[in-house]
Amino acid sequence: MIPRFAPTYTWTDLFQGIVNGRRQQVEAELCSRLAAMHDVAHVFLVSSARVALYALLKAYNRPGDVLMPAYNCIVVPEAVHFAGYNPSFVDIDRGSLNMTPDALMKCMSPAVSVVLATHLFGIPCDVGEIRRVLERHNVLVIEDAAPALGAEFRGRLVGKAADAAIISFQSTKVISGESGGALLTNNDALAGKLKGLLQAATAPDSGLEVFLRSASRKAATDRWVYSIAQRGYRLLQQERMYEVVPPHTRMPSDFLKGCPKFSANLVLNQLERLSWNVGRRRKLAAIYQEELSGQPLRLPSPPEGASPAWIQYPVQVKDKGSFYRYMQKNGVDLTWTYRYSCAESYALEGLENSREAAKTVLGLPTHPSITDSQAQLVCRTAKRYLTGQRGTYL
Ligand SMILES: *Cc1c(COP(=O)(O)O)cnc(C)c1O
Repeated sequence: MIPRFAPTYTWTDLFQGIVNGRRQQVEAELCSRLAAMHDVAHVFLVSSARVALYALLKAYNRPGDVLMPAYNCIVVPEAVHFAGYNPSFVDIDRGSLNMTPDALMKCMSPAVSVVLATHLFGIPCDVGEIRRVLERHNVLVIEDAAPALGAEFRGRLVGKAADAAIISFQSTKVISGESGGALLTNNDALAGKLKGLLQAATAPDSGLEVFLRSASRKAATDRWVYSIAQRGYRLLQQERMYEVVPPHTRMPSDFLKGCPKFSANLVLNQLERLSWNVGRRRKLAAIYQEELSGQPLRLPSPPEGASPAWIQYPVQVKDKGSFYRYMQKNGVDLTWTYRYSCAESYALEGLENSREAAKTVLGLPTHPSITDSQAQLVCRTAKRYLTGQRGTYL
């Protein structure tokens, strides 16, 4: 079975984490590496990207509407709500699966205080253009680069073109650190407030806890263990292809939490391999694009100038459930996130493209451990399904 996600750390990274675990400077070193890479003045580490967003909004302290694409990770509007702001949604474009600057402008109002420029699936949006159309508005622009470490737009790394950016090191992202998130900004005033705010953060999870979690995640992607785990999961959990997911409205008391040293060390170790990692993802995406173009399914169309980091390769099919089950029966596990539209979670109607995406998007795997021939196998399997189907065009 080819797993939908696999952690990017090796067993060596994990054991090195134990050895280096006591080193004092790991977090500071990771911050300065990320700052140098992105050419930003301030980097802070927390337990996840959602927490980074929460901290930013708290530090900015101008509660109002936060505009974001409706086809999105539900934890984003949840964090916005926790911070005392009002999540507000823009419908996506069917091709790029992201909001266009035009659609964004149609949703602007004086109530908007923050706009999230989201690089969904690691596909960069045009932050420069978003800033340009917002020129006359007094809003903070935050790049949601949670899945987009290493992605570029017109040759520049994403994460430095807006007022601030957030990055995730969760296990499904470009570099997995098991947990952890970073917050990047050049804004000295915001950084000053953040420093104070983060002093109140809960202590991070212990190294042992994170080691055990990451080691079992690593073990679970072994091919035999994975098929058995998958089967168990299916029996217990049922895999739903489309849902209206209710948002959490109450913030956990320990939400604002630090980044575990063990995670920081895992990420630091893997930063040296970032260009290999992203290069592999781009290669796999290129194989998918070449082999599947002309087939009756919709391929992603990144905006011009975008070089994605592809945490998955999202394709749209008419019957998500049947395609998913066929691929799985033939040894390829796909991601069915996101199976919901955040607009629907917040009871808003009429954002049809986001709803359509929730019902049709499946992610082909792009983690760097997949070989070219495995990617070819994924394509052959998909084509076998597609030729047997009628009317799979959207
Ligand atoms: C994963 C993701 C997040 C959340 O990241 P966490 O570290 O899990 O909080 C936010 N936004 C986008 C676009 C994501 O893909």
